[in-house]
Amino acid sequence: MFTIFRLWLLEKYAKKYDIPIMQKDGIQFLTNFIKDNNIKNILEIGTAIGYSAIKMALVDNDINIISIERDEERYNKAVKNIKKFKLNNRIKLIKDDAFNVELDEKFDLIFIDAAKAQSIKFFNKFSKNLNKSKYIITDNLKFHGLVESNEKFSKNLRQLIKKIKDYIEFLKENKEFETIFYDVGDGISISKKR
Ligand code: SAH
Ligand code: MG
Repeated sequence: MFTIFRLWLLEKYAKKYDIPIMQKDGIQFLTNFIKDNNIKNILEIGTAIGYSAIKMALVDNDINIISIERDEERYNKAVKNIKKFKLNNRIKLIKDDAFNVELDEKFDLIFIDAAKAQSIKFFNKFSKNLNKSKYIITDNLKFHGLVESNEKFSKNLRQLIKKIKDYIEFLKENKEFETIFYDVGDGISISKKR
């Protein structure tokens, strides 16, 4: 079967079961960045069903990825999907909460796309695994447009939005990284280690 058709099936599956995979223009932006910056090893926090990991691995056949997912059902689905694309030699999946995972490897890119309220913690935990002058990319800084909205939300949602705003402030103030924010997909930041 053709790769493009298989990817389309993943997108359709995600839509049907409400799995928040990256948006079309967001994933395009991310894969272009990987290509343009010759990125070869990637840590992803938040695999879901493997869509973004597969897209990133398809950029070049010497790219290696470690991706962490805590949800058993999604992890199992991701394992199957990655096998279908014959990428299981280049995408290593870890089924655990990212906060329990200790890695020694260093990466050129850390892609944070997990629990949106925890981004500061993920950033601080894994920035030691980043090679010098390399990148941390974070998805969903707009959170479906809610971060910039003036609507009244439930308490839980307000707290989540506040956490995302705190993360944006954290990035702006961070002296060790220089961050650029992109209004693409659901809002993406690229932080470069100084
Ligand atoms: N990157 C994927 C989408 C990930 S959706 C893509 O674009 O294709 C976010 C995922 O992060 C969810 O499946 C959720 O279970 C997982 N997640 C959230 N918090 C996590 C944590 N602390 N550790 C591991 N996985 C987590
Ligand atoms: Mg996302």
